[in-house]
Amino acid sequence: MPEGTLSALDDYRADLASQLAVLDSLGLRRRLRSARGLDLTSNDTLGLAGHAHVVEAMRRALASEPAGAGGSRLLRGERPAFARLEQRLAGFCGTPAALLFASGYAANTGLLPCLMGPDDLALSDAQNHASLIDGLRLSGARRLAYPHQDLQALEQALELPRRGRAFVVTESLFGMDGDLTPLVELQDLAERHDALVVVDEAHATGLFGPRGAGRVEELGLRERVLATVHTGGKALGSAGAWVAGPAELIELLVNRARPFVFTTAPLPVLAAALEAGLDLIEREPTRRIELRRKSRLLRDALARAGVVAGGHAHIVPLQVGDNASAVALQEALYADGFDARAIRPPTVPLGTARLRVSVRFPLADEDLLRFADLAGRRMAELGLVPVVGQDAGA
Ligand code: PMP
Repeated sequence: MPEGTLSALDDYRADLASQLAVLDSLGLRRRLRSARGLDLTSNDTLGLAGHAHVVEAMRRALASEPAGAGGSRLLRGERPAFARLEQRLAGFCGTPAALLFASGYAANTGLLPCLMGPDDLALSDAQNHASLIDGLRLSGARRLAYPHQDLQALEQALELPRRGRAFVVTESLFGMDGDLTPLVELQDLAERHDALVVVDEAHATGLFGPRGAGRVEELGLRERVLATVHTGGKALGSAGAWVAGPAELIELLVNRARPFVFTTAPLPVLAAALEAGLDLIEREPTRRIELRRKSRLLRDALARAGVVAGGHAHIVPLQVGDNASAVALQEALYADGFDARAIRPPTVPLGTARLRVSVRFPLADEDLLRFADLAGRRMAELGLVPVVGQDAGA
């Protein structure tokens, strides 16, 4: 190589560095930061991740289970504990069957390409999680994103001429906006247009419904939706995810869902952790009832402090607009001992950067009240005017 010229590797590394510099200049560079400060950010909503019942269940399971499954479930990785868990998950969700995946990302990118193909039309809420978007991309279906929660726009899209089937894909509680999808109206609309509905219950599992299975259970829609996706890494406190639905669908996923077929089975002790999480969800509904009370407490206190919050449930976004402002607010509250993270594009639309506050069952009332008061003061000091993203909630 002539002197003074860059090798392909050096040239490429310079390219990577300039991509990072662009992120810096846009206020979009993320850095890993270990947990510190009061947790107003994690999805361990009910405090089950450190709960002795869950931790002990994993420890006990290790006495009889190996550390690793040793292969894909279709090969040597299958274990009785997975089948037992899946039966229980199906019962919990009220479906004929359920299938465990290693994560919600894997479940969505596995499920959607099995449900639809290039002849089909996929109508997807514009704020759907990246794993749903990626799953739809992989399916090859014709995709249309309708404006967030806009059922009129959805209806127009459902009236478009189509070759194959139509599917509506939505979250039941949006992870960054904290708003609840009008699922009954959406399901009615879909049925009027012969469309099938898939609901991602990641943020609602463990928190809504008489059993805690989510909003599809709460609203009595189980017999009408095609499939639901649930995660184990949020309210259930451990990891993994499952698809709940008809037996034929689950059987097809076992055969065709690529993130199920072509990956090592989850750690066998995950089954014990998820069962223990389900025990607590079933035995201790007070946790989710208290979570609702605490969420209202925070929303009321924020309103008294002059802060307009969005959403309706435990996810409380304080939308401030530009990236730098969201980060400045995050840092100010971090210095006060609170860990609530700034959420920026592409996770949320351009110009809607926000501090995403997640109320959690283990948080004390006094801490929530102190947070609301300080959030009001820090926003005023920074000259930030909160914006109502969607509909400010109750
Ligand atoms: N779906 C939604 C709506 C989510 O919010 C998330 C995680 N943030 C996922 C799927 C992915 O779940 P997991 O973290 O288990 O991969």
